[in-house]
Amino acid sequence: MHMFLNVYFDWQGLHIVKEDLTACPECDFPAIMTEFTELLKEDGKCPMCGENVDYRRLVKIDDATPYLDVNPSE
Ligand SMILES: [Zn+2]
Repeated sequence: MHMFLNVYFDWQGLHIVKEDLTACPECDFPAIMTEFTELLKEDGKCPMCGENVDYRRLVKIDDATPYLDVNPSE
């Protein structure tokens, strides 16, 4: 899970994600809010956990620190 998060943030570009970040209310998986909202409007469920999620339940994350601090120094 931690490795996946790191790959995810590297891929998206950290500066973009931090300004438009949300998380699935069911599985807490971080996602781009704009993209996740569009996805939920179409599919109605989270691609990570498969739970039905209303896009109106998404909450924007202002402080992304808890999601970014997943890889303590080794
Ligand atoms: Zn989910």
